[in-house]
Amino acid sequence: MSRYMNHCYDALKPYVPGEIPQDPDTIKLNTNESPYPPSKGVCGCFTPENAETLRLYGDPANRQLNRAIAGYHHIRPENVMTTGGSDETLELAMMAYCADGIAYPDETYGFYRVLTDLHEIPVRLIPLKEDLSIDPEDYENLGCAIILANPNAPTGLYLNKAQVEKILRSNPDHVVIVDEAYVDFGNESMIPLISQYDNLLVIQTYSKSRNLAGARIGFAAGNEELIQDLEKLRNSRNPYDVTRISQLVGVRAIEDSEYYRSTCEKTVEIREWTKQQLKELGFSGTDSQTNFVFVKHETIPGEMIQKKLKEKGILVRWFDHERIRDYNRITIGTREDMESLIKALKEICDENG
Ligand SMILES: *Cc1c(COP(=O)(O)O)cnc(C)c1O
Repeated sequence: MSRYMNHCYDALKPYVPGEIPQDPDTIKLNTNESPYPPSKGVCGCFTPENAETLRLYGDPANRQLNRAIAGYHHIRPENVMTTGGSDETLELAMMAYCADGIAYPDETYGFYRVLTDLHEIPVRLIPLKEDLSIDPEDYENLGCAIILANPNAPTGLYLNKAQVEKILRSNPDHVVIVDEAYVDFGNESMIPLISQYDNLLVIQTYSKSRNLAGARIGFAAGNEELIQDLEKLRNSRNPYDVTRISQLVGVRAIEDSEYYRSTCEKTVEIREWTKQQLKELGFSGTDSQTNFVFVKHETIPGEMIQKKLKEKGILVRWFDHERIRDYNRITIGTREDMESLIKALKEICDENG
């Protein structure tokens, strides 16, 4: 740190993203990206004509994109705020609604901790159950804001509508943020509940299920007043956060929703195949509902599996956290990617067991 840096950031630990490999032959199963390209409509956005319009600012109100997102989810544009990736939506929501602190599970998306540290928000960490699932009763009557990734990361486990509604009803004076980064891989969104619950804010991203991690598109859905709060903060910080190109890409991605449904379905199919194969190799894990699996081997430590796979050109994630040190989080790639993974794991098991 330079001697000029404000000491208020001394203790800050920035988010550690999964490694970005330099070798193009690496099989990258460490950051939950899609192995499939964006839709044809999206790829068609990159024309010289559209490039020329980049001299202009985009619409800071994201009107076209908000309208498209609202249409897709059968809500009104007033119920939508788009941002440059959902990490940004998460930050705005934390800035807005955590005056009394915020509760989240002891194992969840690591960026929550980074944001609460950055904004000095008091945190109430609620342990997952022994089987790594969330006990929804732990979140009733808390007296602070709540954020839940649903399905949760890195466990992949999902709370159903009735369970989320109970949490919403028992915390009427605080906002409950539901981060649905992985909901499109086979589960139901809570967005339809925003008309019934004033305290519900749902956050989604186009990074995972719409194959657009590099485009940085995320959004929040909630009642009109919540959206106005968030827009106020967004416009006080970075009103042009969604680039012109991302605005175009986002609208096309919605027009091509059928394509994304098919890539998500493929991922779900390959996920279930992968779970079965891993089981045969002596792995167990959660019943992940996402585009990754979360598994541990009966004898080989997660850290070693990560290292050995890396030597074979396959990147997966391992978290050095006490409760989940035995596990690896492995993104679902193409069928060929997963066949290579299984082959590599077989070799590792043969060499070490
Ligand atoms: C990937 C992820 C995000 C971040 O998505 P971006 O839109 O790329 O910023 C948010 N929440 C969870 C749980 C995620 O896994």
